[in-house]
Amino acid sequence: MIKYIFITGGVVSSLGKGIASASIGKLLESKGLKVSLIKCDPYINVDPGTMNPYQHGEVYVTEDGAETDLDLGHYERFTHARLSKANNITTGKIYDAVIRKERRGDYLGSTVQVIPHITDEIKHSITNVAKNTNLDVVIVEIGGTVGDIESLPFLEAIRQLKQALGRGNAIDIHLTLVPYIKTADEVKTKPTQHSVGKLREIGIQPDILLCRTEKSLSLDVREKIALFCNVGVEAVIPAQDVESIYEVPLMLQADKLDELVLRMLNITYKTRDLKDWRDKVVRRIKDPKKSVKIAVVGKYIALQDAYKSIYEALKHGGIFNDTGVDIKKVDAENIIRQGSHAFLSDVDGILVPGGFGGRGVEGKIQAIHFARVNKIPYLGICLGMQAAVIEFARNVCGYKDANSTELNKKTRHPVISLLEEQKKTKNLGGTMRLGAYKCFIKTGTCAYSAYKHNLVSERHRHRYEFNNKYRSIFSKKGMVLSGIFKPKNLVEIIELKNHPWFVAVQFHPEFKSKPDNAHPLFRDFIKAAIKNSGS
Ligand code: GLN
Repeated sequence: MIKYIFITGGVVSSLGKGIASASIGKLLESKGLKVSLIKCDPYINVDPGTMNPYQHGEVYVTEDGAETDLDLGHYERFTHARLSKANNITTGKIYDAVIRKERRGDYLGSTVQVIPHITDEIKHSITNVAKNTNLDVVIVEIGGTVGDIESLPFLEAIRQLKQALGRGNAIDIHLTLVPYIKTADEVKTKPTQHSVGKLREIGIQPDILLCRTEKSLSLDVREKIALFCNVGVEAVIPAQDVESIYEVPLMLQADKLDELVLRMLNITYKTRDLKDWRDKVVRRIKDPKKSVKIAVVGKYIALQDAYKSIYEALKHGGIFNDTGVDIKKVDAENIIRQGSHAFLSDVDGILVPGGFGGRGVEGKIQAIHFARVNKIPYLGICLGMQAAVIEFARNVCGYKDANSTELNKKTRHPVISLLEEQKKTKNLGGTMRLGAYKCFIKTGTCAYSAYKHNLVSERHRHRYEFNNKYRSIFSKKGMVLSGIFKPKNLVEIIELKNHPWFVAVQFHPEFKSKPDNAHPLFRDFIKAAIKNSGS
């Protein structure tokens, strides 16, 4: 029988429920169990694909082309779970499904209501993930904070599920905050008591409390929380701030959270340890032998979460090379105002990430120019590849007004443009080229020396493409078209001759990088940056 762990959050948002869920997944895998993870998002958008990064942070793309919450990125980085569109449930998706059923006549005769129709659809979507696989545990993270109006149907659905599954088959882990009040020099348990009170009001008694705190929690404090919140003291687990997110599984293991969860779920297990994770991931993050500085030139630089997977993948490249990666976040619009030199003269490598729309693009193009002429290792991703093509067209081929038709519809040199099939698309939600496609890699290229395979699979999220009309002139001028999607003859990777390492890709390699298995392109990009730094 498949067991369920529901993760809820209280007091405030941004406590790291996603990292906690992913870490619990990692701990269970270390006990030889097979896990999957689901994120429930209470917003009404069907998926986050139409939200901007200020609203949502990064949009994470799964193999099957779903645009999902960035927590799915944490799940895939920490565990071996293979996630698909079924692993991100939103209010929008649930209502969409229920309204379609209503129109079809599936509920003929009934008034369609939040309880039971919406809650049944949520339960069905959750239990559906467990079908057709040999999973042991499904971890379900409920987005938002207890007390929000939006998340109520989700909480009611997990209350019903927990009840139906019975004791020993499902537990709730509640993540709360135990704040430290400086003037009183004390940690305070009241917000946690209130949050658990709120949860109990809707019928959910948490089984374990994960208490986010900046100070350690004394036994007294833990006993007080246990007493007021109706859990055993061993179930009050302190989750103290740590330097790196990859330390969280080790910290929770030290507090025996894994054993407690397995005992509560009546699971017998084989013990494996987290030795490799400790020695090869966490040790190298905390105490690397060398260090490099990498500029990420984007337009959502002020936001922590907009380029989440890219920042993580850079760190993974660093872990592989036992090198700390100091990420310099550069706002592309500042480059337009003050020039590249002011921001990029002290970096060992430059990365331009994906993006949409024109703001900041000219700054990105200037940054790429700086990387090309100064022979600084460059990794371009999605818009970062398109901008590299534009830069090359303008400054090497002499097509001064070269552009993408996304940015200038009237350009005389549309080096990046739409395929005919995209021109016909009217709806903007879920209609990009999304998900995994196979890419053919030419031998003798930087891409081949990274991948060491002729056929790889990478995830996409874009509408515009390299314009094949310019292939021969670009090749003549020194651009190498090293990756091709053969079924449609699309250029997926470009490189430059006469440059130590300049690789730009139409897809998103960052989504497949893991701390203990860095993506080959990020691994080699960091290697090239180390060489460039002379260390
Ligand atoms: N805006 C570009 C396109 O739609 C690039 C997208 C991206 O960088 N993810 O093709």
